[in-house]
Amino acid sequence: MEMFGAKPENIVVVIAPHICDKCYRVGEPFREYFPDNYRDGNMNLQNEIMRRLIAQKIIERNIDTIDLNRFCTCHNNDLFFFLSPG
Ligand SMILES: [Zn+2]
Repeated sequence: MEMFGAKPENIVVVIAPHICDKCYRVGEPFREYFPDNYRDGNMNLQNEIMRRLIAQKIIERNIDTIDLNRFCTCHNNDLFFFLSPG
């Protein structure tokens, strides 16, 4: 986006529903790649996205997150996936 003239301080980000850290079970190799957001075999994707955005100078108050207790695409999958009958 910066290549097209956007300034990080003017960028607004919305993190959409996704799998929460309680549901996102990952393997041991994740520990090495995501040391800040890997804990006991689980990955906190939202925190990892936040960390990377802030590292790119996106202002934290310009990042809109989601309540993953209510909108996790795994444990609230009835909100996000529809299985057609038959
Ligand atoms: Zn979940």
